[in-house]
Amino acid sequence: MSQKTNVLKVLALVVLSVGLTTSSFAKEKVYKLKLATTWGTSASPLIDAAKNMAKYANEMSNGRLSIKVDSSNKHKSPFGVFDMVKGGQYDIAHSTSYFWKGKDINTLPFTTMPFGMTAPEQYAWFYHGGGLELMQKAYKKHGMLSFPGGNTGVQMGGWFRKEIKSVEDLKGLKMRIPGFAGEIMAKHGVLVTNIAPGELYTSLERGTIDALEWVGPSMDITMGFHKIAPYYYTGWHEPGAETQFLVNIKKMNKLPKDLQKILTLSMKLAAFDMYTQNYHMSALAWDKMTKEYPGIKIKSLPKEVMLSLKKVNDELLAKITKDNPFVKETLDSQNAYMKKAREWTKISDYLYIKDNL
Ligand code: CA
Repeated sequence: MSQKTNVLKVLALVVLSVGLTTSSFAKEKVYKLKLATTWGTSASPLIDAAKNMAKYANEMSNGRLSIKVDSSNKHKSPFGVFDMVKGGQYDIAHSTSYFWKGKDINTLPFTTMPFGMTAPEQYAWFYHGGGLELMQKAYKKHGMLSFPGGNTGVQMGGWFRKEIKSVEDLKGLKMRIPGFAGEIMAKHGVLVTNIAPGELYTSLERGTIDALEWVGPSMDITMGFHKIAPYYYTGWHEPGAETQFLVNIKKMNKLPKDLQKILTLSMKLAAFDMYTQNYHMSALAWDKMTKEYPGIKIKSLPKEVMLSLKKVNDELLAKITKDNPFVKETLDSQNAYMKKAREWTKISDYLYIKDNL
């Protein structure tokens, strides 16, 4: 064999191997998705759930699934994410279900309900008690899938400058408390106001409002409310606020099966991360707040007030469920589940803590 033939053979091998490598790269198609959050860039841990999800999906797929996360600072439409995913401008959203009450009342019960389940109880309902199936049913007609996206745990009842000793004390109280809980408060004579987050501190400081609810220590600490309101009330209105991922069904179906699975698992993992991250942030924030401001008083609303809030809650829900059979089906499912789960919570977590204090 001549030297020339040998050179040609080597060249042919090189060309072949380069060709093979190129074609095996070509098979690794990258699927690019866009995600819009309701939250701004600094809204930790909410925004972290979306970012972590995108990171996990990218890592687990070896780069085949690439998700670009746009915060509301970028897309400028925090409450437009439902329509943007429905319409296909974005593929995924991270937000929370009760924001869409005005668009579709059936989406109301999937965040949290006043006097409803705690986060562990509600997660058990979502993943094992039929909750996820009901949530998918609610979003199906909008061409979207919905998955749990992380939980804030029990939210605090809020910061008050005045103590609440009776139902009478609620009359004329100016409070920022949005959503369904706000409606319950309004029925008690509370003047419910809607103030932009950036103006809340000044409004509370100047007495434009007497009270407000936000989240809990994890997110309240950066707002600084503990510096100007002495009473921190325990929660009743958002006992386990779950965020959600919304995914455009058509976009999901266009992904190969393995990437669909990776996306679904990334959402589940990011949800768990947000729940534990928020717990951690709250523990540290509460420790810091009480060290710097030892005068903060933890209060619970009096029994009389709680019973009245619960009564109005039940009345308002009865009105909604009367005309909305799907909301009724969901609430019935939640209540039946909570009845069983709560008995277990009472003799496990609750008694463990009570007996070991
Ligand atoms: Ca809240």
